[in-house]
Amino acid sequence: MRILLVEDDDRFADALTVALRRQGFDVCRASTAAAALSAPEPDLVLLDLGLPDLDGIEVCRRLRGGDVAIIAITARGEERDRVIGLRSGADDYLVKPFGIAELSARIDAVMRRVRPAARPVVTVRGVRVDPARRRVTTAEGAEITLTRKEFELLAALTREPGVVVPRDRLLAEVWHSTWPGGRRTLDVHMATLRAKLGDPGIVQTVHGVGYRLAVGAAPAAGAAPAAPGGSGRPGKDA
Ligand code: CA
Repeated sequence: MRILLVEDDDRFADALTVALRRQGFDVCRASTAAAALSAPEPDLVLLDLGLPDLDGIEVCRRLRGGDVAIIAITARGEERDRVIGLRSGADDYLVKPFGIAELSARIDAVMRRVRPAARPVVTVRGVRVDPARRRVTTAEGAEITLTRKEFELLAALTREPGVVVPRDRLLAEVWHSTWPGGRRTLDVHMATLRAKLGDPGIVQTVHGVGYRLAVGAAPAAGAAPAAPGGSGRPGKDA
């Protein structure tokens, strides 16, 4: 997912860029309204409303011409700034300072709201995941009962099958927090999820990074499955 960060404060922008990239987002930055308005359209804009060259609300209005989600960022927590955030026409707003876990959760919520079609039913190795109905079923149609956290983990992975989702991003999205020891909690939930899915290979571990959903059929390598109805002897072809 591509995020355009529009922010004139270099230090804040640099820190936010690093944090967002760590969460798996593709980030580019504009430091002025002019640069933002001429940038290629991203999926989502994080828009500082206090820009040097143009009023933030006007920037928001012009960006709105496209099909882009916008989260406005205002400088302080004063009532006036909250009102400006609400009236900017953005999908959501945040008041500085805020944590990356909160931002990540807001991004996910906004994307779910503005792009419901981005959550299609995904079938992986026979297991069918329907994020909108929160249902998971086997190839035979039997329902797999997951806890809320297990379902949210699976749903987070189904958004982009085959793409690695960093562990910190999963923690931020499912637990709305990252904390020391959180990764262990995540790993334990992932182990239970895999057991319930009945095919541990559906969720793949990328060591030191995170998890991803398998794409395509289960690998035949090493398993050398017999031809349907066959005796199990090696085939003669090739
Ligand atoms: Ca600013």
